[in-house]
Amino acid sequence: MERIAIYPGTFDPITYGHLDIIKRATILFDKLIIVVVKNPQKETLFSWEERLALVKKAVKGMKGVEVDSFSGLVVDYVKRKKANIIIRGLRMISDFEYEFQMALTNRRLSPSIETIFMMPSEAYSYLSSKLIKEAGSLGAKLSSFIPPFVEKALRRKFAGKGL
Ligand code: ADP
Repeated sequence: MERIAIYPGTFDPITYGHLDIIKRATILFDKLIIVVVKNPQKETLFSWEERLALVKKAVKGMKGVEVDSFSGLVVDYVKRKKANIIIRGLRMISDFEYEFQMALTNRRLSPSIETIFMMPSEAYSYLSSKLIKEAGSLGAKLSSFIPPFVEKALRRKFAGKGL
């Protein structure tokens, strides 16, 4: 049976931290579906379509990786795909409280779905999309944190242009 895992997130924008988790997860699973979630509660810099386009470009050619988008409860998406695993990344202790709450809420909603946490390389353990946006808006060089085309998209966004 094919082992399928779902990696949901906002990806606003995708970073080398996300990509590190994606690469690690592809070793463990036959298929990894990255789901760019549209969360109306969360204000994002990039639109849903832009976030999706950047993720697609970042994983192009990676074996066993699919990209999709979804608006709604992640557990519903997981069931729809007949999968039972959610992948999340854990960086610092500061991630723990939120991730713990979400994993247990999802378990209550759907007991057969397990959340698996993966740690990135320490080089990315402090990296977040939020930090990238803050540093980027101040003109920092971001080449060690995000792929070149994401950096370009960020610069265009700060200049008030499209992707
Ligand atoms: P969300 O809004 O769902 O937290 P994010 O795009 O911020 O969406 O993150 C998606 C997942 O990737 C989360 O589990 C987050 O902890 C993880 N993640 C984000 N950045 C990193 C990183 N640098 N290293 C490892 N995991 C990360």
